[in-house]
Amino acid sequence: MQTISDRVLSLAASQTLAMSQKSAELKAQGIDVINLSVGEPDFNTPAHIKEAAVRAIEDNFSFYSPVPGFMSLRKAIAEKLSRENGLTFAPEQIVVGNGAKHALCNVLMATVNPGDEVIIPTPAWVSYCELVKLAGGTNVLIPTGIDSDFKITPAQLEASITPRTRAIILCTPSNPTGSVYTRDELRALADVIAAHPGMLIIADEIYEHINYTGSEIVSIASFPDVAGQTVIINGVSKAYAMTGWRIGYCAAPAEVAKAITKLQGQMTSGASSIAQKAAEAAYTGSQECVEEMRKAFERRRDLVVRLAREIPGLVANEPQGAFYLFPEVSSYFGKSARGYNIKDASDLAMYLLMEAHVATVDGAAFAAPGYIRLSYATSDENLVEAFRRIAAALAELK
Ligand code: PMP
Ligand code: GLU
Repeated sequence: MQTISDRVLSLAASQTLAMSQKSAELKAQGIDVINLSVGEPDFNTPAHIKEAAVRAIEDNFSFYSPVPGFMSLRKAIAEKLSRENGLTFAPEQIVVGNGAKHALCNVLMATVNPGDEVIIPTPAWVSYCELVKLAGGTNVLIPTGIDSDFKITPAQLEASITPRTRAIILCTPSNPTGSVYTRDELRALADVIAAHPGMLIIADEIYEHINYTGSEIVSIASFPDVAGQTVIINGVSKAYAMTGWRIGYCAAPAEVAKAITKLQGQMTSGASSIAQKAAEAAYTGSQECVEEMRKAFERRRDLVVRLAREIPGLVANEPQGAFYLFPEVSSYFGKSARGYNIKDASDLAMYLLMEAHVATVDGAAFAAPGYIRLSYATSDENLVEAFRRIAAALAELK
């Protein structure tokens, strides 16, 4: 008898988390692995945010919170959206959940019917396609490559829209490619979407502050003609080094926010009360910590791009945001060393893990075979040593 549902059987495991787990296991065996697989800031959560959490414990914020989050936090998020993004959202349009991943899952569960199509430009973050499947939707992928800096064109978008299109998931700055859409590029995509008013834009803006373009990241919701069709996904994980606190949110049309609140009321209830108070401090306190971390990531971006370009077989673009490098690695396919025959990027990632002791992620996890992803959210010393090992291991492949 089959005990596990088809729903879960059809789901792929999260490769980012799996690779990170594997590297932790090797570390536990005493192997000195440098983990460039999972994407999470290596900084500690800033002190004023931690202090707010301690205060929340002492002040007995130990009861259930309202399902969509404390009103004070939702107000702080609405103010952030106005201050930083020029967007007008009422607190009632904001639902706080257990991380941006949960917020995204909520939106898809609340808006996608079986058979509905969701457009996903690829390379795309690991969880998008799987969460669409979980909601019963069908993924419509728009593949891109390094030649177009991993960005889709309005013509590609137009060609992928059908009467069954329910939504598009847009991630800028992108995980895994680091690409950032300019205002003009987003405007051109918005022109296409505005002509399809039944379609939602799910805008994943979790990396908005990890931006090296020198200009503001534009939110597609800032264009009035598509604002009412847009759901923003964001949270504190990346900007404030708070991945373990598990606070994210969606800012959505009122009807969608209401539906998500109903769903969340049955599935998880309000997010952790202590973590919500910490997130509130993140949004209302000094933003200097965000800029300090951004600067560190930019320095590391420059470092890894330089180190990657010294390796002849890697083809890498210069990421404009987030903290990932996504080199094309197909020049190593068909080569061998130390008993490893490299057929694809999965073999290459395994070879690098086992022989160079550097954990990366196979591009196939992002629907982009032929690439690997390296997270540079780690110290400069780790990055220099990781690239030294990668260069040596790759040079052996013949
Ligand atoms: N979206 C993207 C593109 C991400 O990289 C992540 C990080 N895992 C998330 C959403 C989810 O973030 P979290 O659940 O930690 O808030
Ligand atoms: N966003 C991170 C990554 O892509 C965290 C892992 C995850 O949530 O999948 O590596």
